Amino acid sequence: MGSVIERIKRGHFWTFHGGIHPPEQKFLTTDKPIRAVSIPEQLILPLQQHIGISADLQVNVGDKVLKGQALTKSTHPMAVPIHAPTSGTISAIKNAVIAHPSGLSELCLFITPDGEDKWRERKICTDLAKLTDNDLIDKISSAGISGMGGAGFPTQVKVSTHEKIKFLIINAAECEPYITADDLLIREHSPSILDGINILDSILSPEHILIGIEDNKPEAIKVLQQTTANNEKIQVCVLPTKYPTGGEKQLIQLLTGQEVPAGVLPSSLGIVMQNIATCFAIADAVINDIPLIKRVVTVSGQALQKPQNVWSLLGTPVGYLLEQCGYPNKDKKHIIMGGPMMGYSLPTDQVPVVKTTNCILAPSEKEISSPYSTGTGEVECIRCGQCSDVCPAQLLPQELQWSAKAKDHQQLNKLNLFDCIECGACAYVCPSQIPLVNYYRIAKSEIRQQTQLDIKAEHARVRFEARKERLARDKIAREEKQKAAAEARKARMNSGTTEAKNEMSAVAQALARVKAKKAQTNTQTPSNEETPLANVGQRSQVAAAIARAKAKKLAAQQNMTVEKTTLVDESSNSEQAVVDKKAKIAAAVAKAKARKLAEKTPVKQVNVGDTATDLKVEQVSNTEKTVVDKKTKIAAAVAKAKARKLVDQQAKLAATPSDEITNEPPKSEST
Ligand code: SF4
Ligand code: SF4
Repeated sequence: MGSVIERIKRGHFWTFHGGIHPPEQKFLTTDKPIRAVSIPEQLILPLQQHIGISADLQVNVGDKVLKGQALTKSTHPMAVPIHAPTSGTISAIKNAVIAHPSGLSELCLFITPDGEDKWRERKICTDLAKLTDNDLIDKISSAGISGMGGAGFPTQVKVSTHEKIKFLIINAAECEPYITADDLLIREHSPSILDGINILDSILSPEHILIGIEDNKPEAIKVLQQTTANNEKIQVCVLPTKYPTGGEKQLIQLLTGQEVPAGVLPSSLGIVMQNIATCFAIADAVINDIPLIKRVVTVSGQALQKPQNVWSLLGTPVGYLLEQCGYPNKDKKHIIMGGPMMGYSLPTDQVPVVKTTNCILAPSEKEISSPYSTGTGEVECIRCGQCSDVCPAQLLPQELQWSAKAKDHQQLNKLNLFDCIECGACAYVCPSQIPLVNYYRIAKSEIRQQTQLDIKAEHARVRFEARKERLARDKIAREEKQKAAAEARKARMNSGTTEAKNEMSAVAQALARVKAKKAQTNTQTPSNEETPLANVGQRSQVAAAIARAKAKKLAAQQNMTVEKTTLVDESSNSEQAVVDKKAKIAAAVAKAKARKLAEKTPVKQVNVGDTATDLKVEQVSNTEKTVVDKKTKIAAAVAKAKARKLVDQQAKLAATPSDEITNEPPKSEST
């Protein structure tokens, strides 16, 4: 231990494998103070802005909220709450694109600020010594603090370790090109940062506190050395600039010489690391009762007219920050969240600033075609091995890429994909311009997703098995209980005591009551209320009614035969009478017509002077009368014949058996 501190005091450090020296480009913002920006018209707050799970919603659409009010809450250690960055109204709760390499949409709270920026009630702590470690951890937890260096690990979990801590390492390396947010924060707010470090010291009680910072921040180094001069426990460790010194494992190795094995937490080696911005947030939360609602963001890139560091409220759309820094609309082509090495392109400028956002980069066309840009001219891997030479995690980037392309998750795990810190050094040096980190990010997401599904399936299986066992146990317990009760009852009955006799008598009485009730129900008149006995009576009545209906139907069928016969006879007689009558009427009509005709034809007397023509006319009239008489007679005869035929048919019909009477037309008789 002594040798570590002695080495540090002498300015000697260890080193890590690989690493690169990209152009720093920090000059764009390093000499400009942190500027406050006005509140945007809308704030978009993803429910989850850290590694872990989102907490439970505490507000609804339409609710008025105050600045600093908790919007989500949970007791789960991996659930970090979020807070209202200003006062206003919850205007929506819906999915929106969040800050993620995949351009994912996740549940977000939308706040429309009211412009008053009105705080909830706050309790300022004037004496830190009065707070216990648990009080401090509670304040850190309820303030929603998670690592602000990029990973976003819940701070409450890191500081709740039960391990004995040798080194508390404060990460102020800020090794990524362009980013100067921590540099400026140190220069402007070192007393608050020191308060935060002291709070962590109080909770973790480390043997040494090491602040790691790269030698490209001379002003910040000076400020830190001055601020911590009176605290012998704290060592400001000025490290040579090399990317990625700020990686957790790399910084631990540089300062302590210890390598953190894959899958092992630094705390198990007695080391806890916190980012310098997180220390500032801890002090603000514990002392000023200010939750994590804002952070310093470097807004840089040569496409901006006024690149600078700004205090940004969480939830501020990236586009709003760019406007504040003089970003012409026509150039809204390529926006990167994070630095050029570890950042990712945004699908829209409406993505909000979150707890881990340390930089927004708006590069010019010239910068886009710089060595930082990846993926535009990807060609086949030439197996040059440069990627593995620079990999600080000592991985095999080219093999990882092949396995990621093949979706060989097993092989990716064997190659320790999850040790990759996504530093981008491999992609930076790749002559084939393969966007290696993109492949790793996608593969990691797929594996995480699959792992989640596997965990869910396993939980479901365990729940099912547990339920099955519980039901079996309950059944056995129930049966044993019943058996024990029966045996106890039997024993009691056989004991011959007064209580047993009374009990037997009570049982006998109960049985008698049941029998009596049954008998009574049997004899009761069926009522509307349906009982089993009533149902039996009702069924027998229905059967009797059906039998009666059947008998009636049979009798009706037998009667029908007789009735049909009678009906035919009667019908024949009446029809015959009608026919006779019709024949008589026809004959009478014919006679009347003849009479009428005779009356119309005058009797012609032959007189002296009648001409031959007159005589001839008289002869024609007589002839016509004769013809009419004849026609009348024929008509009468036809009518009589028809009547006779009809009578014959009716007689035949009457002679036919009744069973053969159908609606079918009469068949011709066989001879
Ligand atoms: S640097 Fe690029 S080309 Fe070279 S081995 Fe790695 S992936 Fe292949
Ligand atoms: S991105 Fe991953 S694989 Fe590539 S150099 Fe960095 S740690 Fe190694």
